[in-house]
Amino acid sequence: MMDKKDLEYFKQLILKKREELIKQIEALKQNAIGEGRDDTVPEQSGYTYHMADIGTDAMEREKSFYLASREGNLLWHLDQALLRIEKGEYGICVQCGKPISRARLEAVPHARLCIECKSKEEQGR
Ligand SMILES: [Zn+2]
Repeated sequence: MMDKKDLEYFKQLILKKREELIKQIEALKQNAIGEGRDDTVPEQSGYTYHMADIGTDAMEREKSFYLASREGNLLWHLDQALLRIEKGEYGICVQCGKPISRARLEAVPHARLCIECKSKEEQGR
């Protein structure tokens, strides 16, 4: 089990990651808004009409949104990890209930699964 000092250490680690992530998401949002600003062609008519013309632009924008959602996903996981710290469930695998190794938490502070359950989950996919 983790003592308070360890929990505080990981809490700070997660909070720092979270802060950086929020900055990244903000930057990505700015990008997406910036690119869409001069686009007066409605999305749908562009889709059926000038496919070639808007191709690159739309792809770039899609990429930004994709990244934004990926980052958004990670943000959710970081928040969940903070919740688990509050509840005293941090560092315990949600699947098998065994402690997650410290090395793994250092690498992935928001990890919910121990390495064994994680690799099982990946195989099941
Ligand atoms: Zn496990």
